[in-house]
Amino acid sequence: MDLMDNIKERIIYLTKEIKRHNDLYYRHSLPEISDYDYDTLLKELVTLETQYPELKQDDSPTQRVGSDLYLGEKNIPHKQRMYSLDNAYSLEELKSFVLKAQNDLQVKYLDICCELKIDGFSINLFYKNGTLMYATTRGDGYVGEIVTENIKTLKDLPLKIPFAGEIEIRGEVYLPVSEFERINEERQLDGLKIFANPRNAASGSIKLKDSSEVKKRKLNAFFYAVGFTNQPIAQSQSEIIKLLDKWGFPVNMHYIRAKSYQEIVDFCNHWDKERYKLEYDTDGIVIKVDDIALQEELGYTTKSPKWAIAYKFKAEEKISELLDVAFQVGRTGAVTPVALLKPVSIAGTTVARATLHNIEEIERLDLRIGDKVRIIKSGEIIPKVLGVVEENRPNTHLKVQFPENCPVCKHKLEKEEGGVITYCVNSACPAQLQRRLEHFTSRDAMDIEGLGPANISLLIENGLLNSIEDIYKLEYEKILMLERMGQKSVDNLKEAIERSKHQDFHKLLFALGIRFVGSKTAKILCKSFNNIEMLINATEEELQSIPEIGQKIASSIVKFFKDDDNVNLIRKLQELGLNFNSSDETKNDTAISNLKFLVTGTLKNHTRNEIHKLIEKNGGIIISSVSKNLDYLIAGESAGSKLTKAQKIETIKIISEDQFLDMIDLDE
Ligand code: AMP
Ligand code: ZN
Repeated sequence: MDLMDNIKERIIYLTKEIKRHNDLYYRHSLPEISDYDYDTLLKELVTLETQYPELKQDDSPTQRVGSDLYLGEKNIPHKQRMYSLDNAYSLEELKSFVLKAQNDLQVKYLDICCELKIDGFSINLFYKNGTLMYATTRGDGYVGEIVTENIKTLKDLPLKIPFAGEIEIRGEVYLPVSEFERINEERQLDGLKIFANPRNAASGSIKLKDSSEVKKRKLNAFFYAVGFTNQPIAQSQSEIIKLLDKWGFPVNMHYIRAKSYQEIVDFCNHWDKERYKLEYDTDGIVIKVDDIALQEELGYTTKSPKWAIAYKFKAEEKISELLDVAFQVGRTGAVTPVALLKPVSIAGTTVARATLHNIEEIERLDLRIGDKVRIIKSGEIIPKVLGVVEENRPNTHLKVQFPENCPVCKHKLEKEEGGVITYCVNSACPAQLQRRLEHFTSRDAMDIEGLGPANISLLIENGLLNSIEDIYKLEYEKILMLERMGQKSVDNLKEAIERSKHQDFHKLLFALGIRFVGSKTAKILCKSFNNIEMLINATEEELQSIPEIGQKIASSIVKFFKDDDNVNLIRKLQELGLNFNSSDETKNDTAISNLKFLVTGTLKNHTRNEIHKLIEKNGGIIISSVSKNLDYLIAGESAGSKLTKAQKIETIKIISEDQFLDMIDLDE
C-alpha cells in the first residue's frame, strides 16, 4: 500500500470514529473516551484534511457540530446558527489566535473578554416581546430539540425579560458537582450505569421525558451570549454579560476584559489551578474579541466563530507505579482487569486503582508489572491509565498476563464472540454466585436479614449454598453445626427466608439481577406487567411502550427471559412458593386501576397534563404509543395517526374526554 492509501484510510477511520464518539457524547451522554482523547483524534483529522484536502470526506465531523438530535423528536430551527468553538491546546496556540485576529483586523491592540468555559450542555432560549417562548438544545447547530419544560425547572431562569421584540439568549446548563455525586449514588443503587462526569449527567437530564424527574436533579445554568436579535443590545461581549445579569439571568461573574496578552495568560493559569474549588466543572477558558463590530468583521468558519477560541485545560496528569493487576469477576461473569497503583493524588482525590477494561486495553498499553504509568482522571472523575513511561524501563518487568482460567473457580475463561470481554461461563462460579446472592438478598431486593455477604460466603464455602434456589432449600441442621451459627441466629435466618417468599413482586424482579433493571425500573415494570408470565412473553415493542423503558432496557429484559437457565430458575422459585404476582390490593380499588391509557388530539375541558394526572391518581397507567397493550385511547379533536392505528386494534376502546371522566370518581 502506498503512502496516499495509508493516509486515506486513516482519514476514513478518523471520520468514522469521531462521528461514533459524537453520537456517544451528544446523543447518548455516555462517552467512551475522555474529552482530551477526543480532541486529539479531531486535531489529527483537521491536520490531515488541511494537508490533503482532496481526501476530505463529505460527511467530515470537522465541518459540522456534533448533533444531539434524535429522529422523531420535536425540533425548531434556530434563528441564528449555534456554532461550536475552535480549541487551543497550548498558550502558544492561544497567542497565535490573538495575533492572527489583530493581523486580520489590522489593529495593534484588542480588548479580549475571557470567560470560564462551563462544561455543560448548550441551550438556546427564545423570547418574544419579553416572554420566554421555548428552549431548544444546540441540536446540529441549525435545528434544536425542544426542551422547554425541562429548562423551566432551572431555579433562576427569568420567564420574562424587559426586551420588546425577538431575541435568542444562549448559555450552558450544568449540574453542580455535589448533585452529580448524589445522582450517581442513586443510580448505582438502581443498577444503572453511572455518569462519567457532570456534563454527561446534565445532558442526560435535559433530555429526560419526565420534567418532574428533571426538577429533582437541580440543574443550573450560566448564560453568556445572544443569538438572533431584531435590535442590537450591546456593543461588546462584556456588556452583554452585564446586561444579561441585569435582566435576571444567572451569569458567571468570573470573567475579565483583558487589556494585554499577559492578562489572558494569567487568567488561564489562575483558573487551571483554582477550578477544582468551583461547584461546577470548567474545561477551559473561552477568549472572545470583545468588540461586537470587530467580531462581525472577523466572521465565521464552517463550524466556529473566528473571533473566539477555547483554551482547553489539560487533565491533571501524574506518574505512578503499577504494583499489580487484579482480575475481578462480576455478577455476569465478566472478568475485568484492574490496575493496582501506588497511591497518588490527582485533581483533588487519591487514586490507587484504575480499571483497565479488557485484554485489548492491556495489550494496547503494553503494560508490565512495575512500570511507571501516566495516570489522569478521565472527565476529571474516573482514574485512567494513559500510558507507560517507557524511558529507562528495566527489561525485568514482566508483561501482564490475562489469566486463562477464572481467578476464583479455575473454570476456563471464554472470550465474548466478536467482542473484547472475557467471561467465566461457569454459572456455579463462586465469585458470580457470591455477587448474585448478595444482590438477591440485599435490602432493596428480597431483603433477607442474616444472609449478608459474610454468611453467604460461609455457606458457599461449606457447600450449603450453590444457587439462588438453594436459599429456599437450606438444611438448617447442617448450618447449626457451623461455628458462628447458634440456634437463635439460625431461627432468625429461617424466619427471614420464609418471610421473603411473600416479598413484593417488584422486589423479586429486581432481585433476579436483570441487566439495567434497577429497583425503580422493576417497580415501573410491575405496574404494567402484573405477573412474571406477562413479562416472560413481552416483546421489546410492548416493553418500550412504557415511557420509562428505552430500547436498551427492553432488549436486556427480552434477552434475559430467552435464556433457559433464567426461566428454569424462575420455575423452581415458583414451586418453592415465591411471589411472582403484583398484589391485588390496589388493582381493584378503582375502576381504572392498572388499565393502560393514551391521550391524543386536542381536549375540550382539560389539558393533557390534567388528564394524565387524573389517570395516575386513579391507578391507571399512561403509555406513550399505540399497541395491543393499550386499553383505552382518549381521543380529542383532530386526533391523528394514533387514532387511526388504534382503530385497527380491536381490543383498544376509543373514548372521548367525557366518557373518560365518567369512568372515574371525580369528587374527593
Ligand atoms: P465545543 O462544543 O466543545 O466546541 O465548545 C463550544 C461550546 O462551549 C459552546 O457551544 C458552548 O456550549 C460552550 N461554552 C461553555 N462556556 C462558554 C462560554 N463562556 N462562552 C462560549 N461558549 C461556552
Ligand atoms: Zn469463575
